[in-house]
Amino acid sequence: MSTVRLFFALWPAPSLAATLAAWAEQARPSCGGRVMRTETLHLTLAFLGPVDAALADELAAATPERRLAPEDMTLDRYGVFGRQRILWAGPGDTPSGLQAAHDELWQWLSGFGLAAPPQPFRPHVTLLRNIEHASPPADAPAPLAWRYDRMVLVASESQSGGSRYRIVAQSRPQGA
Ligand code: ATP
Ligand code: MG
Repeated sequence: MSTVRLFFALWPAPSLAATLAAWAEQARPSCGGRVMRTETLHLTLAFLGPVDAALADELAAATPERRLAPEDMTLDRYGVFGRQRILWAGPGDTPSGLQAAHDELWQWLSGFGLAAPPQPFRPHVTLLRNIEHASPPADAPAPLAWRYDRMVLVASESQSGGSRYRIVAQSRPQGA
C-alpha cells in the first residue's frame, strides 16, 4: 500500500514568514548554510512520518473537526541542532499552551495507532539547513509575536532537490 509522509504544523501568515526570513538572513553570515524558502517556513507540532494512504485520508477528513486553542507565542531566540546542522528560531521556553496542544494532538493520534516520539517537544522554525558553523548570532532580532489559532496537516512529498509541502487540511479556527 502507498504511504504519505505527514506532519501537523503551525503555518505563519505571510508577514510573519517574511520576518522569519529576515531572521534567516541575519544568521547566515555567521552560520553559512542554505536559507529555507519563505513560503515553506513552519513550526512542526507533530511529525507523523509515512502513514498508509487510507489513514492519511482519514486524518485529513477528521482534522477540520479539531480545534487548537488560540495562544500568543513569542519567538525570541536562535538555536542550533548540531547533528542535523539546522539553525532555527523559537521560543525560549516551550509555552505551556503549545505543549498542551502538542500533548493533546498526540493523545488524539494515538487513537489512530500513531505514537509520539520519545524526545521532548522543542518548538522551532527551521531557518537554515546544512549550516557550516554552529554559532548563531549572539543576539536575536526583536522578539516576534505569533498568535496562532489553527494547525495544518501537511503532506511532505519527495522531489528532486528536496521535499515539497502540500497542506491537506486545517483545524477549525476559533469562532468558525
Ligand atoms: P527532507 O527530509 O526531504 O530534507 P524536510 O525535512 O523539509 O525535507 P520532512 O522530513 O518531511 O521534510 O519533515 C517535515 C517537517 O517535520 C520538518 O519541519 C521537519 O523538521 C520535521 N521533522 C522531520 N522528521 C522529524 C522527526 N523525526 N521528529 C520531529 N520532527 C521531524
Ligand atoms: Mg526531513
